[in-house]
Amino acid sequence: MFFWFIATSIWSVWFVFRDPKFDYRLVAIAALMPDLLDGLFQAFGMAHGAMHSVVTSITVLFVIMIATAGRRPSRQRLLALPIGMFMHLIFDGAFSATKTFWWPLTGARLRDESLPSIERGILNLPLELFGIVSCIIAWRYFALSDKTRRTKFLKTGALQRPE
Ligand SMILES: [Zn+2]
Repeated sequence: MFFWFIATSIWSVWFVFRDPKFDYRLVAIAALMPDLLDGLFQAFGMAHGAMHSVVTSITVLFVIMIATAGRRPSRQRLLALPIGMFMHLIFDGAFSATKTFWWPLTGARLRDESLPSIERGILNLPLELFGIVSCIIAWRYFALSDKTRRTKFLKTGALQRPE
């Protein structure tokens, strides 16, 4: 599950905020983090699932709000992190793994449930195909074959419709 989370996070943020200056790189990376981190923890037999809890996303949101008080530009950029993490939870269907989703509020132990992307099994395939197609559409929509636009995206995360 790679292109699925990149495509759904970027497109959602684009349609909600329509903000060309938003850091779309950061939101895509943040949307990949939960499976990457929890996947690693699970692979090493450690407690996993914390990144699939909505409480973790909210905590990250609050920490950023407090840490960037009075510094608007860095706040705007960093908010892409919890937004990307939220996007992962939505498009991962993480809310159906109730114990993990509300951890630690429910007092559940983290290793009780396996990660949604592992639980889904073969269903990942159509989702990932959909993700690849959506990424190709985004590439064309934001005209990223143009070197200037691509460089701008890679350096600042900004995406814009060509005039
Ligand atoms: Zn996940």
